Amino acid sequence: MSLIRNLLLAGSESTWLRSQATRSRIVRRSVTRFMPGETIDAALAAARDLQAAGTPTILTHLGENVRDASEAAAVAAHYLELLDRVHAAGLDAWVSVKPTQLGLDLGMDLCRRHLVRLSAHAANTRNMLWIDMESTPYVDRTIDLYRGLRGEFANVGVALQAYLYRTPEILDALIPLGPAVRVVKGAYREPPSLAFPNKKDVDEQFYRLSVRLVAADAQAAGAFLAIGTHDPALIARLQAHLAAQQVSRDRYEFEMLYGIRRDLQTQLARAGARVRVLISYGEYWFPWYMRRLAERPANLWFVAKNLAG
Ligand SMILES: Cc1cc2nc3c(=O)[nH]c(=O)nc-3n(C[C@H](O)[C@H](O)[C@H](O)COP(=O)(O)OP(=O)(O)OC[C@H]3O[C@@H](n4cnc5c(N)ncnc54)[C@H](O)[C@@H]3O)c2cc1C
Repeated sequence: MSLIRNLLLAGSESTWLRSQATRSRIVRRSVTRFMPGETIDAALAAARDLQAAGTPTILTHLGENVRDASEAAAVAAHYLELLDRVHAAGLDAWVSVKPTQLGLDLGMDLCRRHLVRLSAHAANTRNMLWIDMESTPYVDRTIDLYRGLRGEFANVGVALQAYLYRTPEILDALIPLGPAVRVVKGAYREPPSLAFPNKKDVDEQFYRLSVRLVAADAQAAGAFLAIGTHDPALIARLQAHLAAQQVSRDRYEFEMLYGIRRDLQTQLARAGARVRVLISYGEYWFPWYMRRLAERPANLWFVAKNLAG
């Protein structure tokens, strides 16, 4: 892992840096590249614009590691309102949540209760609820929560991170459930004892996990594959496999982050692929923004340009 990436990921965990950065107008301006705004209205407006251009979305309200039960309840209430507003606006916009934003640090039961309510409300509003994957201390609990929800609801999905050595075992155990899985490379600071330090290995594991999700047994069980990456080489390799295996187009899609590789989003959509864009919004953007900078330290030039002028 590069030194800059390490520093940015360490910075993402600093409360001091967070309070400095969120007060800076220049940093706030840089953030707008990846985020249409801090409010639910700004997110819905962006989802409407993307839908008008033929691109469905996923919405996520930024926040993590909530330490207070009333705060977790407020987050759940926010997502219930979001599901209602998406439904009322006739948007094809799924919703994605972080377990620690719904109180996982306060206990499994509390977090499960919120997730069950949100899954049920998503089902009632013909939507889909996705669960993000956070850093390694949360992986087992997140998978447990997902297993429980998937037993009750068909409209729930979970993200799995290709950089963790153990993800193939996790996926194999989920396959009989016919899971909806978003494969991503992984965005957190993990030690080499747990995660591949080299991009080449992460990319290879990403490919294998995706292939596993479209294997005959997984497809027969009802699995759905969301390919969460902006990596053109990986996307091309997977497209070739999906075409060769004649995987039906309603069993997979490509997912990218708002503001990143729009050229690739357009190119894939023009070629007939389903492409969905994840829109993040909210006031608690600092750790999320630092992870976006860490993924591509060249983004620091963008911040520097804003600083300069
Ligand atoms: C829909 C979606 C959901 C996600 N959910 C999770 C999750 O639940 N848990 C988790 O740990 N991670 C999640 N991530 C983040 C993911 O783990 C990666 O950190 C992120 O996608 C960058 O990796 P990449 O696959 O695009 O490949 P990379 O090899 O990092 O990048 C490939 C190319 O994409 C472009 N690119 C990538 N990132 C950026 C950026 N920040 N700025 C500008 N250009 C960029 C560059 O052109 C780069 O060369 C999610 C990503 C997506 C797209």
